[in-house]
Amino acid sequence: MSTRRGPRMVLLGKQGSGKGTQGERLAVQFGIQHLSTGQMFRDSATAGVTAGLEAKDFMDRGELVPDELVIAVVHERFQNPIEVQPGFVLDGFPRTKQQALELDSILEAYPIDIVIDLDVPTDIVVDRMRARGREDDTEESIRRRLELYDAETKPLVDFYRERSVLTTVNGLGTEDEVNASLLKAVSSRFPNERE
Ligand code: AMP
Repeated sequence: MSTRRGPRMVLLGKQGSGKGTQGERLAVQFGIQHLSTGQMFRDSATAGVTAGLEAKDFMDRGELVPDELVIAVVHERFQNPIEVQPGFVLDGFPRTKQQALELDSILEAYPIDIVIDLDVPTDIVVDRMRARGREDDTEESIRRRLELYDAETKPLVDFYRERSVLTTVNGLGTEDEVNASLLKAVSSRFPNERE
């Protein structure tokens, strides 16, 4: 018997590339869950939960939260296959090779359908981060996060390209334009709800 499901996707892209905004829209459009590790940490820091407070210290400095901590949070969320099977948008995870390998073992029988590299030039994301003025958007942490993106996260583009699940989408344009490009990219990889 087959059941309909939505796509299982990962959004890669620099901070300020629009992953959060677009991830939320895609989740609504496909009726799937949106999982942002950054947002999960911000929520748990606000709630005073230990993992969140520990993470906040790294986030405020523009550092990556240590893999063990991030992986534990994603593990908890994806413990039950029922959470994974119907589809999801992962936004901001994985950000390192170790996280990507860990994600494989978490997903096991439910592999990722599509990884989208939301591409926006560095000078534009810097302007966007300055303008959004989030607590962790200081000049120093913006610089550090871009440095870490190049060193730790950019290699995942090749990692997923080699698996033939990668698509690059131009992240410049209005929200609606970028959303339309994303929908087109998803439907070319995931033509019908299936399985
Ligand atoms: P974001 O909301 O995606 O911009 O993430 C905000 C901050 O949370 C990042 O600058 C990191 O400090 C931390 N963070 C979020 N996701 C991860 C991750 N997968 N690995 C390490 N740190 C993360």
